[in-house]
Amino acid sequence: MWMSILRFFLIPILLNFFFFCSTPQPYWVKEKQQLFILSKDSVELIFYIEPDSDLYKFRQITRSIFDYLDLLKTYPYLTIKETRYYVIIYKDYHSYKTYRPFKIDSLAHFDRNHKLIHIPLDIQNHLLNRTTPSFVIYHELNHAILEECCKHYPIWLNEGLSFLLQNIAQSFECKKNMIYLPESLLRQKNELIDRRIHLPFYPDFDQIYDIYQQNLISILYVYYLFNSNQLLNYIQIINQDPKKELYFVFTKGNLHLYEKVRNDFYEWLKTIKGNRVINGC
Ligand SMILES: [Zn+2]
Repeated sequence: MWMSILRFFLIPILLNFFFFCSTPQPYWVKEKQQLFILSKDSVELIFYIEPDSDLYKFRQITRSIFDYLDLLKTYPYLTIKETRYYVIIYKDYHSYKTYRPFKIDSLAHFDRNHKLIHIPLDIQNHLLNRTTPSFVIYHELNHAILEECCKHYPIWLNEGLSFLLQNIAQSFECKKNMIYLPESLLRQKNELIDRRIHLPFYPDFDQIYDIYQQNLISILYVYYLFNSNQLLNYIQIINQDPKKELYFVFTKGNLHLYEKVRNDFYEWLKTIKGNRVINGC
């Protein structure tokens, strides 16, 4: 009952996902056709491009990728390992859809098992302002980078950080960073506030909510941590003791303390406005 009510209220926002399960690999990957390699400072990006793709579009979405990685390197939430990252490029969304995992309406995804990013060249999503294919590729690349450096991060942190960091436009400077918050993330804000959906480190979080709700609240919660200057501290705590159950680390198992943290988040959500930059660290 609870689940069906939530599903009714929260219209899924199309986002990018990462999957634990393996997703199929298209024929041009197996046959190693149209392989493109971009590299800088020992980071190599290997692209498998679908035949008949628009290479002008491909160059457009990858043009600033190393500038983006240079900015990202300044952020203390992750480290970019000198390694290879693999990306499968689909000529369009239709082609991508034929290879994507069933049921989940993703725009692009990172297959955690094979360490492969899957991305179509023609992403258009009116729900996510400013989501151009470049932002989508940055997002998926963030998942791949976090997988290499920070496998111990919980899924919600990986998802939220991938989204937050896709929007960076300057080097890290604590409390002075300005990161864009799209209005589309706040479209269901009233429903979230009414329902007081649990925070993503709540023990039963992934059993109560579907993947769309999990994604949305994970991203908003990471924005909140950033905007209230708590994100760096959270990450330090997780790095100190990666195996500890976060619910108990953050609340000492105290339900009142958890409710206070939850309340603080919803008070922030009530006041925050989208389509503008917010600061924090
Ligand atoms: Zn994602």
